[in-house]
Amino acid sequence: MKPKERMEIPRQHPKELPVEERITNFNEIVQGYDDDTAMTEANRCLQCKKPWCIKGCPIQNDIPGFIKLLTEGDIEAAYWTIRKTSSLPAICSRVCPHEFQCEGHCVRGKKGEPVAIGMLERYISDWMLANRPDKIIEPCAIPKEKRVAIVGTGPAGMTVAYNLAREGYRCTMFDNLPVLGGMLRIGIPAYRLPREVIDTEFHALKSCGVEIVSNITIGKDKTLKDLEEEGFSAIFIGVGAQESRKLDIPGEDMEGVMHGVDFLRRFNLGEDIRLGDRVVIVGGGNVAIDCARTALRTGSKDVFIIYRRTEKEMPASETEIRQMKEEGVDIRFLVAPVAIHGSSGKLESIECIQMELGEPDESGRRSPVPIKGSNFTIQADSVIPAVSQRVETTVCNGVDLKLTQWGTLDVNPETLQTNIPYIFAGGDDVLGPKTVAKAAYQGRIAAKSIMDFLEGRL
Ligand SMILES: Cc1cc2nc3c(=O)[nH]c(=O)nc-3n(C[C@H](O)[C@H](O)[C@H](O)COP(=O)(O)OP(=O)(O)OC[C@H]3O[C@@H](n4cnc5c(N)ncnc54)[C@H](O)[C@@H]3O)c2cc1C
Ligand code: SF4
Repeated sequence: MKPKERMEIPRQHPKELPVEERITNFNEIVQGYDDDTAMTEANRCLQCKKPWCIKGCPIQNDIPGFIKLLTEGDIEAAYWTIRKTSSLPAICSRVCPHEFQCEGHCVRGKKGEPVAIGMLERYISDWMLANRPDKIIEPCAIPKEKRVAIVGTGPAGMTVAYNLAREGYRCTMFDNLPVLGGMLRIGIPAYRLPREVIDTEFHALKSCGVEIVSNITIGKDKTLKDLEEEGFSAIFIGVGAQESRKLDIPGEDMEGVMHGVDFLRRFNLGEDIRLGDRVVIVGGGNVAIDCARTALRTGSKDVFIIYRRTEKEMPASETEIRQMKEEGVDIRFLVAPVAIHGSSGKLESIECIQMELGEPDESGRRSPVPIKGSNFTIQADSVIPAVSQRVETTVCNGVDLKLTQWGTLDVNPETLQTNIPYIFAGGDDVLGPKTVAKAAYQGRIAAKSIMDFLEGRL
């Protein structure tokens, strides 16, 4: 096919569950491509000599490479091309913010819509799960003697386990929760990431000999030092950024205020949470949107998001903003919280102030500035502040690990080794709250460094 013909093919948009159906359940909203649609979309790729898409992908997947194999009908080879760099293709293809990563760099996006790289990756991964379920990871090497402990079963820990187990290292993963996957399972809602997709990855890890110990808090039930004394030659810390940042406004400790990741964690662990009819969420990122849409699905009627900047500055993806609006969430832009009011310790309303945009700050975004005297209140049954997370450092108890001034784990940026040579760290506990692909990338780097350390090369 000539480039001109490829340019004439419009982007293939996936089917989505109708709004009235999806707000009643947690079924996956975006449907995968069928065979013909995948082929049509794959043929839009220009196979650029300088593929910018790869530069935008945090784990540098060979995007034109797997798309070419797909157009040739060799889906299995396309899958293994992705697997060379990706430990979690079925997951990343669903949840990566593609418009800010690979698709945001695709040349076709300059004069129209980029190639739907995420949807093609998802098609290939789902095809493998459906047609070659026993072959989604490579055969593992003969087990070696050396044992590695991995603290945290989120994408960073999963990637370390994936890379080390394939080489025969004996890995044991520890997690303080009864469920596996970190924020993939207790943060990201099932309507964006079905739980079977996460389960399949753990099934594959277990079949490669990875052991998993749940319900154990490292730093409390046992320390990293204990793990070393038990015979683990190296340890990876991937405990994420689990603690909600506070708004630091009066009334934040009232009954009826629940912070974003706490709400999602409790809900995803099966707690029956009733937020009431009117819910106000504070924030403009993924977590805020996931809270709003989860609140709707658990029966709240009037769900508002207040965000202190404008829609243009919202860090959440366009698709999620669109879907959230379709579902009836009301977003109030240029609004910031001032105080939470109530009586007898129980919340009744949130006081807000109108903002305007001033000069750009160090992130390049224009800073919101309060407009004097513009205060107003919104009645609420629940308020959910969802304005970011920080690292919870229980894991460090009993060992002298260095932290940065931001409270993240201090590591050598090239090797991800901490100040204690046998301990490595990566993912959100090093980067601060970021993305699945960035956590997975650090997992890959850490696994390589751990192998170098175990083999005396580091
Ligand atoms: C609501 C929400 C939505 C998100 N949506 C997206 C998205 O759409 N796309 C995207 O790319 N990213 C998204 N993210 C971010 C992404 O989920 C994280 O960047 C990623 O999961 C970080 O991976 P991690 O392995 O570093 O840590 P985590 O996924 O946080 O996993 C850490 C694990 O360690 C466990 N742990 C913590 N302390 C201990 C201890 N002391 N002992 C034992 N275990 C411990 C935790 O319980 C957890 O299971 C979202 C995050 C949230 C909260
Ligand atoms: S930049 Fe876009 S068109 Fe070019 S190789 Fe990547 S996906 Fe294909």
